[in-house]
Amino acid sequence: MIKIMIRIEDVIEKVEKNRPEPDIDLIRRAYLFSALHHRGQKRASGEPYLVHPLEVADILADMRLDETSVSTGLLHDVVEDTLVDLETIRSYFGDEITHLVDGLTKIAHISNLSKEKQQAENVRKMVLAMITDVRVVLIKLADRLHNMRTMQFLKPEKRARISQETLDIYAPIAHRLGMGKVRSELEDLSFQNLYPEEYRKLSNEVEARRTELEAALEKITDLIKTKLNENDVPFIEVQGRVKRLYSLWKKLKKRKLTIEEVYDLIAARIITPNDKKNCYLALSVVHDIWTPVPERFKDWIGNPRDNLYQSLHTSVINDNGQSFEVQIRTEEMHHVAEEGVAAHWKYKERKLGRREEDASLDELRKTVEKLLLPLVETTQDAEDSEDFIESLKLDLYPKDVYAFTPMGKIIQLPRGATPLDFAYAIHSEVGDACTGAKIKGRIVPLRTELQNGDVVEILTTPNSKPSRDWLNYAVTSKARNRIRHWIADQQRADSIEIGRKLLEKEADKFRLSPKKLLNNDDEMKRIANEYGLGRAEDLLASIGYGKTLPRNVLAKFLGAEKFAELDPEKKKETRLESSVKAVKKFIGLGEDAIIVRGVDNLLTTRARCCNPLRGEEIIGYISLGKGIVVHNKRCKNVQQLMVNRDRIVDVEWAKGEGKEIQSVRLLATTENRTGMLAGITNAIAEIKTGIRDARAEVSKNDRGLIEVTIEVFDKKHLDKVVTSVQQVPGVIAVERVNY
Ligand code: MN
Repeated sequence: MIKIMIRIEDVIEKVEKNRPEPDIDLIRRAYLFSALHHRGQKRASGEPYLVHPLEVADILADMRLDETSVSTGLLHDVVEDTLVDLETIRSYFGDEITHLVDGLTKIAHISNLSKEKQQAENVRKMVLAMITDVRVVLIKLADRLHNMRTMQFLKPEKRARISQETLDIYAPIAHRLGMGKVRSELEDLSFQNLYPEEYRKLSNEVEARRTELEAALEKITDLIKTKLNENDVPFIEVQGRVKRLYSLWKKLKKRKLTIEEVYDLIAARIITPNDKKNCYLALSVVHDIWTPVPERFKDWIGNPRDNLYQSLHTSVINDNGQSFEVQIRTEEMHHVAEEGVAAHWKYKERKLGRREEDASLDELRKTVEKLLLPLVETTQDAEDSEDFIESLKLDLYPKDVYAFTPMGKIIQLPRGATPLDFAYAIHSEVGDACTGAKIKGRIVPLRTELQNGDVVEILTTPNSKPSRDWLNYAVTSKARNRIRHWIADQQRADSIEIGRKLLEKEADKFRLSPKKLLNNDDEMKRIANEYGLGRAEDLLASIGYGKTLPRNVLAKFLGAEKFAELDPEKKKETRLESSVKAVKKFIGLGEDAIIVRGVDNLLTTRARCCNPLRGEEIIGYISLGKGIVVHNKRCKNVQQLMVNRDRIVDVEWAKGEGKEIQSVRLLATTENRTGMLAGITNAIAEIKTGIRDARAEVSKNDRGLIEVTIEVFDKKHLDKVVTSVQQVPGVIAVERVNY
């Protein structure tokens, strides 16, 4: 592709179109000055250096900034990269541009400080410069944006460093100033350069689904348009979009999902004419088409964000159970959402003269001050630069949570962290032995998301062990690594034991003393090597995992002739049968009964499909390499599993009280009258049971349908809740959902 070099005339044309009485002569002089002094310099791409200041000026012209900003864009690197000094700039261009260039040069000038200190210094300067004139940061953002767009010519390490800095500082500042478009582009470019592999993978995955996603989007936007028209709600545009890669990637990482598991890959946006009334009308139409998710509704029109952002956000669920977000805003709000403070020039001053513009700029300065002042206040308290950058980051992106031990020690965790992360942050052994947690004195499920200021008490039991399920709700790498490690260790230890038993049993069948083989280290090692394994233990583990047949191991030990002679293969026992028996014998206290010691026991996992509750009738299914999966006897999947009768084992709950809280969904059918939801939730709360979620709707045959997710310890507890809900006047039936 031939890229046509940008010309100053293109920039001037934009300024003439966007600005009142523009001082074009100033721009031309700045251009000539820049061209003269950058003469002969080249960019990493080999292009003339001048391309860069020109592109920066062009971005600023697109933002509809004034000619002073555009001219500064042309001059921004002159003091930094040529022999020109500030006094020369002043003599040619006056105080205002000199002040802006000075601000930019100071930000760019990096001394030999540590990385954090450099960053902190730069941010401090930028913040201070922004307070006096926001144009400094807008120009700096344009500068960074163009550099990010043309990074491919730099070395990977340099690209990564600059991208990290962009994510840490520039994207958050753009966000703070409400400049959604710049922020998005900076984030996606940083992601691409910082994690090229993951970027490529994700972008391929999204591309592979593009046709399907676009078809879904078209259906959604068409339906919205039709319904808006039917209801005479005015709109300018209905947009459909696929989520941005960086925000998608963050979501996948945070929730540990794969792309198949993310439903809201797509979103719709309605742009209405400039009257907020239209937004609320459109909202009611959207809620009429699909079911809204109540807790996801946000009214940023009634309560605008600090950075002036206004919009309605609602998440809805369509008939296929897919959820997606719909944003609704007026045209003006849309421009503010995309361009933030920069949009001021556009909307406040389109038809204003220069004098009014000055007044408006003053107003803008006040807005920006309000936005950025908190940042400067943190700078006054912070002792040194590192502290400063930390508190700044916290302020820009409040992504960390601070929780306390009962003794008042602060534990800092990423947002989304749970008591498990907290326990592992205290000490690995506290994490391993964790059996529960109290927040503000109340027992909470281990997956509870911690909030700032929570006082967390970790409950431990000496011989308690980590559980595979924990991986579903630990978010810190410290906790996850430790849990994974533990599971792997345990699985291996168990597999070695199972492998040993299987091999002994096989030797028995050949009327061979098991010790002869198992205690013969050299032989075991030799056979292991034949399988490409290092040690005897690896061989046993491989048998235990079901990868290597004990029979084949014996064949290698005995040699073909002897093996054929001793082979008892008259009554054929399948590998599966022997594995199952061995597993039963090994874990089971008796041939068929296995005690399930709660989910903490390694070799048992609760089936996700039916989530069996302590006290309910259960059944175990042996899945090789994964241990025993425990299902509710009423689970619909059990019927299918019964086909492999050999793998079904009897299991029962271990004695003792259940300590673990589980979520269970109940569906109550009621008469259609008011106050049912309140009556039911009161009845549940009265017996001191946690409610995670509750929603009500009316069925087609005029019944109330109330779905409540409650937290219970065991079946007895659940039965108590069901009984008390049944006694609420107006309740017709109560059942547990999701077997
Ligand atoms: Mn530059």
